[in-house]
Amino acid sequence: MGMTQLQQLTGPVLRPGDPGYDAECRTQNLLTPLRPAIAVGAADVADVQAAVRYAAENKLPVAVRGGGHMQPYAAEGAVLVTLDRMAGVTVDAGRRTARVTGGARWQEVIDAAAKEGLAPMAGSSVTVGAIGYVLGGGQGPILARSYGYASDHVTSFDIVTADGVLRTVSGDDELFAALRGGKGNFGVVTAMEIELFPVTTVFAGSIYFPGSATAEVLRTWRDWAATLPVQATTSVAVQRLPPVEELPPPLRGAHVLSVRFAHLGTAEAGEALLAPMRAAAPALIDTVAEVPYKVAATLHNDPVDAMPYLDRSLGLSGLPGAALDKLIELTGPGTPIPLTSVEIRALGGAMDRPPATTDSVPSRGLPFQLFAFAVGADDLDGGHRRLERLMTAMLPWSDPKRRRMPNFLSTEEALDPQALSEVYGRELYERLRAVKRRYDPDTMFRMNHTIR
Ligand SMILES: Cc1cc2nc3c(=O)[nH]c(=O)nc-3n(C[C@H](O)[C@H](O)[C@H](O)COP(=O)(O)OP(=O)(O)OC[C@H]3O[C@@H](n4cnc5c(N)ncnc54)[C@H](O)[C@@H]3O)c2cc1C
Repeated sequence: MGMTQLQQLTGPVLRPGDPGYDAECRTQNLLTPLRPAIAVGAADVADVQAAVRYAAENKLPVAVRGGGHMQPYAAEGAVLVTLDRMAGVTVDAGRRTARVTGGARWQEVIDAAAKEGLAPMAGSSVTVGAIGYVLGGGQGPILARSYGYASDHVTSFDIVTADGVLRTVSGDDELFAALRGGKGNFGVVTAMEIELFPVTTVFAGSIYFPGSATAEVLRTWRDWAATLPVQATTSVAVQRLPPVEELPPPLRGAHVLSVRFAHLGTAEAGEALLAPMRAAAPALIDTVAEVPYKVAATLHNDPVDAMPYLDRSLGLSGLPGAALDKLIELTGPGTPIPLTSVEIRALGGAMDRPPATTDSVPSRGLPFQLFAFAVGADDLDGGHRRLERLMTAMLPWSDPKRRRMPNFLSTEEALDPQALSEVYGRELYERLRAVKRRYDPDTMFRMNHTIR
């Protein structure tokens, strides 16, 4: 297929220098700009198929952008397929499902589901692409401990594989198993069907404590999180918030801890569960209340605008006193590692439950996950160094099998095949390799966390 056929697509086909090329290549992380040889703004499945066939015939790699939060490569020399024009959400209230297409962000899915009194298993950031998220498992701040990983509640995917064929996969299909956790390795996913939950309000929010109370808050949180029922999901983050007008004065430019809490149940039950945590130290701000799911979905206060950021994560096998002491030493008052956010998520609950059919989420059974990020482009070396020091310092408490969520792999780790095989473990990695060999024998989809 020549360039001429590519010009007959419904969506735009753009080369460097063309008007609209830069906008088509935008990402949420300003440190990972895309510079593909050709950017295809796919308007429908036929456009995706044509772009993939063109890449195959010309031996070019294919990059995919949904929400644009996780682009490890600049896609140089590649055909980039963007999915914004195909973004859509159709809710079937009777079946409690949604069909999510293209690059729909979680916010669109949340809004469409809320109209029917339903909620999807969204993540902490509503600007993340719903399909990109689910391909990495998807560990959410509200429903995770009650219902598990988001990928546990996908019923089918539509995918254009390297041969340009559109396939619908579900049930026991090996490709369906690989897609739930295996990220963007197997093709361009054009649509998915997901289950929705009858959740309209949640008792949820954040309690912000001053950084001076780091030790009390972290110790209380660890003990308290262990007592929570599966209906409650929580995380704690030590943060250095920016000095911006949008934040209320006690938080503006402040060193704080944010304890996030979400409970499916009555406000009374939620209040009772939260009481010991609230008593840990005097709060600066406490937003926990009964709120619509849509409001609860932003309880992490993740940035909405595109910005430069670096991140790293580590699966933790536990949080004994020595691990907390180390974290306090590194993030407490007067600390040597000033990162924007150092977060621990308490996992467990339904996230430990085996999936209904085989999948590829490697992190089941992990009790905690550490995730840290640095914002800004002024001191990238410093940011990398600080993240590295934190992760190295916490290594003694990392999961012995090195398991963790594919969704939280840093862009640097994507370039390291060793890191990826460690995350999945040998058996699962070999299974993913077999599926990769079958559906993408020439490794056309290699602009991501690539299975080699
Ligand atoms: C602020 C923030 C908060 C986050 N919170 C959470 C969280 O709470 N829980 C969690 O699990 N994860 C979380 N993540 C991680 C997030 O789920 C991943 O970064 C995810 O890959 C982003 O998807 P995207 O579509 O926005 O990104 P993109 O950069 O568009 O895509 C990311 C990767 O997925 C592939 N991909 C995306 N869409 C498709 C598709 N349709 N077909 C084939 N491949 C595709 C791409 O090839 C690429 O490799 C968070 C990330 C950020 C930046």
